[in-house]
Amino acid sequence: MPAAVPATTRNARICPNCDGFAAVAVTIGGRDTRGRLRTITAHCPACQGLGTLPVRRVREGARA
Ligand SMILES: [Zn+2]
Repeated sequence: MPAAVPATTRNARICPNCDGFAAVAVTIGGRDTRGRLRTITAHCPACQGLGTLPVRRVREGARA
């Protein structure tokens, strides 16, 4: 029986803070002259709006 294997898929670089939804529009109340909601765009501070984490060059269990 295999032990608990960490999820090591190629898509594991999705930002855990925002789960890939790195930029969201936040309503700030009211509407502009055209009747649209006034929004600001907020980016995830962990990944700076990328939705993914930078690939780290850390080699786990590197063989000599
Ligand atoms: Zn993020």
